[in-house]
Amino acid sequence: TERTFMAIKYDAVQRGLISEIMGRMEKKGYKLVALKMVWPTEEFAGKHYHDLKERPFFGNLVKFMSSGPAVAMVWEGPGVIKMARTIIGATDPLKSNPGTIRGDLATSVGRNVIHGSDAYSTAEEEIALWFSPSEIH
Ligand code: ATP
Ligand code: MG
Repeated sequence: TERTFMAIKYDAVQRGLISEIMGRMEKKGYKLVALKMVWPTEEFAGKHYHDLKERPFFGNLVKFMSSGPAVAMVWEGPGVIKMARTIIGATDPLKSNPGTIRGDLATSVGRNVIHGSDAYSTAEEEIALWFSPSEIH
C-alpha cells in the first residue's frame, strides 16, 4: 500500500492546529500508521531538507524546524502521496487555494504549518529518516 510522510510543523503545534490538520487526512479516508512528537536538531532538520541546502532560505528553514517539536506521521492509502500534497496546498500559503490546509490556516511561506513528501522516492526516504520499521503499524 502507498505511504507518505507528513509532519505538522512547530508553528501549527504552537497554534493548536494538530487535530484540525490530522482530521483532514482522517476524514478523507487515509489511515494513520505511525505517529510521534519529535523535536529535531538542526542537523536532523538539515538532513530532512537536504535537497534545499543551496537555497537562500535554508538556514532559516533549519532554524525554524529545530525551534520546537513537530508531529511526525505516516499516512497510508490509495494515491496518498499526491493527494496529501493536494490537501496541503501550494508552498506559499498566499498562493494556496482556500479549502487546502495552507490556504485555510497560514499566511507565511516560512510558517506554512505542514510538510508532505513530494514523490514516492522522497516518501520512502523521509519515512526511513523519521521512523524505525517497528514504529510503523
Ligand atoms: P515542505 O517540503 O515543507 O512540504 P514544499 O514541498 O511545499 O514544503 P519546498 O520547496 O520543499 O516546498 O520547501 C520546503 C520549505 O521551505 C517550505 O515549506 C517553506 O517553509 C520553505 N520555503 C520554500 N520556499 C521558500 C521561499 N521562497 N522563501 C522562504 N521559505 C521557503
Ligand atoms: Mg518539499
